[in-house]
Amino acid sequence: MTRAVFIPSHHVPYKPIRVFSHGMGTQSVAVTVAQGEGLLPNPYDVFVFANVGTQSENPATLTYLRNVLRPYMARKGMMLVEVWRKDRAGNQVDLFEYTMSDANRSIPMPVYFSEGGVGNRTCTLDWKVRVVSKWVREHYPGADIEMGIGYSVDEMHRAAKKPLAWHDTEVTWDNKRKCWVAGRNLGYWQRYDYPLIEMQLRRERAIEIIRTAGLEVPPPSHCKGCPFTQMSEFLDMRRDDPDGFERLIAIEDTINAKYQRIRAGSPHRSKRVTLYRGYIPLSQLPDQMSLWDRYFDQDAACNEAGSVCGV
Ligand code: SF4
Repeated sequence: MTRAVFIPSHHVPYKPIRVFSHGMGTQSVAVTVAQGEGLLPNPYDVFVFANVGTQSENPATLTYLRNVLRPYMARKGMMLVEVWRKDRAGNQVDLFEYTMSDANRSIPMPVYFSEGGVGNRTCTLDWKVRVVSKWVREHYPGADIEMGIGYSVDEMHRAAKKPLAWHDTEVTWDNKRKCWVAGRNLGYWQRYDYPLIEMQLRRERAIEIIRTAGLEVPPPSHCKGCPFTQMSEFLDMRRDDPDGFERLIAIEDTINAKYQRIRAGSPHRSKRVTLYRGYIPLSQLPDQMSLWDRYFDQDAACNEAGSVCGV
C-alpha cells in the first residue's frame, strides 16, 4: 500500500493543550524539573508516561518514578499520568511477554541478526507513541495538542525526524524517498515541541538542572534488555545482577525460538536473533577487554545514555 506524502498544513490552532511525552530518561526528567523550578518559558498541562510493562521496564526506572519523580511532581502540583497498552479485554500488554508469546506472530523489538543487520521495530510506536495518542484522544477530544519531547541540543538529529508543522496523521521521515509520509489518522491536530532545544540546552546542562533541584539523575530509561542497550550496560548487568542476566538470556532464547518458528522455511531466515548488538547470544557475551577492541567505536557512537527509544 502506498502511503500519502505528507504536506505541511496551515492549520490554525485554538488554545493548544500542552502535553509532554515523558520517556523517564535524563532529558525528560530535566524538562519536568525545569517546569517545577519555574525555568520553563512555556509549561505543560500534563506529563504522560507510557509504561511498556513491569516485565520490560528497567526496574530502576520504576523505582525512580515511585520514590523520586512522583513525590517531586506532587510537591510542585504537576500532573503525571501513567498509561499502558491494553488488549481488547482491557488487560495491560507487557512488551516482553508479547514478544515471547506464541499467541501472535510478531517480534516488535528490534532484534539483531547473526548475519548482521537489525530487524524493524514497532515497539516504540505501539507501546509508547500510540498509547500516548490514544490517551490524548480520550481525554482532550477535539483539542489541538502541542506534544513536548525531551530531546536536547545534542539530539537534533532525532528531532529532525519529526515534523514541526501541524499535522493530523502520524508522520514519518522516509529516508529512501527523502520525504515525509503520512500514516494513521491521529484524531486531533498536533505539533511537536522541544523545550530543551528551544532553551539551547545540552545533556550536561540537563543533568545540572536535575542536580541543582536536589534530585538524583535517573537511571537509563530503556527496557531492561532493549537491543539498543550498550555493551557496557550488559556487562554491568551480568556482574551486578547475575539472576536478572540469566533471565535475560532465557528471554533472548525464547524470542529466538519464536523467530525460528515464524520464519521456518523462509530463505531469509537468520540463524540466530540476539538482543546484543554484537550479533552473538547474551550467553556468549565476551569479557570487557575483547569487547573493547571490537566494539568500542560502535558503542561510543550509540552512547546516547539510554535515550534510544525516540518518544
Ligand atoms: S526501549 Fe527498546 S525495546 Fe523498549 S520500547 Fe524502546 S526500542 Fe523498544
